[in-house]
Amino acid sequence: MLDRVAEEIYRCLRCGWCREKVMEETRRVCPAREILGFESSFARGRVLLARGILEGEIGYSEKLVERMYTCLGCGACKTHCPLEVDTVEIFRAMREDAVKKGVPLPKPLAEVNRVIGDCGNPFGKPAGDRRVPAESLHLPQEGEVFYFAGCYDTLRNPSVFKNAVELMRKAGARPAYLADGERCCGVPQIWNGSTDLARELAGHNIEKLVKAGAKRVVMSCAGCYNAFGHFYNYLWGRLPFEVIHITQFLAEKIEDGSLQVDTLENACPGGVTYHDPCHLGRHMGVYEEPRILIKKMFPGSFREMPRNRENAWCCGGGAVVFPYLTQYSLKISEQRADEAAGVGSGTIITACPSCVSVLRIPARKRKIEVVNLLDVLVRAVK
Ligand code: SF4
Ligand code: SF4
Repeated sequence: MLDRVAEEIYRCLRCGWCREKVMEETRRVCPAREILGFESSFARGRVLLARGILEGEIGYSEKLVERMYTCLGCGACKTHCPLEVDTVEIFRAMREDAVKKGVPLPKPLAEVNRVIGDCGNPFGKPAGDRRVPAESLHLPQEGEVFYFAGCYDTLRNPSVFKNAVELMRKAGARPAYLADGERCCGVPQIWNGSTDLARELAGHNIEKLVKAGAKRVVMSCAGCYNAFGHFYNYLWGRLPFEVIHITQFLAEKIEDGSLQVDTLENACPGGVTYHDPCHLGRHMGVYEEPRILIKKMFPGSFREMPRNRENAWCCGGGAVVFPYLTQYSLKISEQRADEAAGVGSGTIITACPSCVSVLRIPARKRKIEVVNLLDVLVRAVK
């Protein structure tokens, strides 16, 4: 399995820019290294471990496996590598390789696989629960424009689900929804190395959408968007429909004049800032569209955190680390909440349900609100 990334592994020159980038200022790159220290926690060391495995010098010891699963998949090392080494794909390939060789997954990750394999979602809910947030919305199950809501926004955040549909309708779309035909996008398995299960979930979702006539699929979850927009191509080849994040969809509608957004200045005391989800920003290159929407609402009180766009610090919940290493994950999210407090913001707006749930914990202590962009935007759209 590591053969497929051998070229990437050998391109690493061990320069160390994936630890700290020294330009106009010294910029820390890797959140794992900030918390854990040691060479093996940031990309240079991790790539060297991959090389050791590729060349048969070392195997998947308990310690190595433990370290392997501390990577958040945030992609900062890949973005900052001057040689553009695809570090993220190397780390994913290592996990795939370990799973293929029968190395047991850490227990909480194996449990996530079991629950998703049984129920099609990570929360152990029956498939029929996916109909609940859509109950009074009368969504068709066939159509050209689809809303793929994802497990979080269907089963945990029904307000986001309803607001996504309302906003799409106000922008002139008539979204369809798979309801209990939808399954988890497979992003936890894509990151934990369980590629067979990821491929099965992806195949199911693609088949259902194609049969239902989808030409354009809109997602409110950054993880689902990353899975469909990038990894599904790797798992199944080129998709027969377009995939787009809802912030892109809505920004496009503002531009063509079909959506009007009012200001909400003063609605969020202390002003707002934006946290770039890694899956949406670094992994998919969507930085500006969420800002277009936020600046329409808060033209005077929006402030950037010092680390934004490709430099954004991970929320701490990447690569399903939160249920597995909760305290470690929270240390990283504390650093992000401090950064929001540092620019004096009373509200962090973001565009990923997982970032919202992880950041809320440290933000609460600092009296900062964390909200999904759609829950604010719905108040500003006529
Ligand atoms: S991964 Fe890139 S930035 Fe990191 S040590 Fe290797 S070449 Fe340098
Ligand atoms: S993906 Fe993020 S957490 Fe993992 S090694 Fe790279 S910078 Fe560190």
